[in-house]
Amino acid sequence: MYSIWLLEYAHVQKQHIGSVLSGQHNKGYRELAFTYMLLKGNGLTILIDTGTNGENEATLKLHKRDGVLDWQPPSKVLAKVGIKPEDVDYILISHAHYDHINNMQAFPKAHFFVQEKEILGWVWAMTREKKFRFPNMALNNQDIFDALHLIVENRMTLVDGEVKNVLPDIDLYPAYDGHSFGSQIIVINNPDGIWENVGDLAYVQENLTGIDNTGTYVPVGLAVGSPYNLIKSLDDMMKIANNDMHRIIIGHEPNNWTKFPTKKYDDGLHVAEIALAEGDKSIFVK
Ligand SMILES: [Zn+2]
Repeated sequence: MYSIWLLEYAHVQKQHIGSVLSGQHNKGYRELAFTYMLLKGNGLTILIDTGTNGENEATLKLHKRDGVLDWQPPSKVLAKVGIKPEDVDYILISHAHYDHINNMQAFPKAHFFVQEKEILGWVWAMTREKKFRFPNMALNNQDIFDALHLIVENRMTLVDGEVKNVLPDIDLYPAYDGHSFGSQIIVINNPDGIWENVGDLAYVQENLTGIDNTGTYVPVGLAVGSPYNLIKSLDDMMKIANNDMHRIIIGHEPNNWTKFPTKKYDDGLHVAEIALAEGDKSIFVK
């Protein structure tokens, strides 16, 4: 069994709703959480995504553009659950947008797993003429250069499609040509039930429930691929969860802080305790 914590490392106060729910223009703003997920169990410390490096100049520009506030480094964020960045053994990357992959260098001992199509897709996109690079807007080119370095240093494994037990009790399901070239759904098979980290295949709960709970999936507002592929990935995550939405963790969705036992810290950031294995210390115990 894995203990699971969802760790907020920054947030956005005012995100246009039209950018998280496709076609919902002039509907105002939503708050978004920026998170990574920590798994501890089977003798391993695993992270899903890396967050950003708010001390890097190029990243700061992206933070400013996107209204990303209150950023804290992994050393501070992970300390809330008693972990140091150098304790992290493995990192599963949901996709290569900067808010998910930008801080790989903060984890000197980690080995990474990402879909092959994700990295090669962005390499291809980066080689297009400038006029075709609109889909690269959430990409930080340096992250892909860094990923290629990690690959040749044998610290990053490229996986091809669905992988069962990539690590003990953890499965990967690809989502091609939707939000990105090769996003993946990461499934944790815990005795308390399965938990899914869906990256940005959903931004908020309404992507799954539909507007006003109509039950019609709404694609996210940013994609390299087709609306149908986005909708298919939403349906895949529902099928994996046996239609139990509680099992689907949407990392940008602030309702995680009311859905799960959550502590808010003095820095304004939250930690949700999604599962706690025997012997691990709860964030609620002093
Ligand atoms: Zn994101």
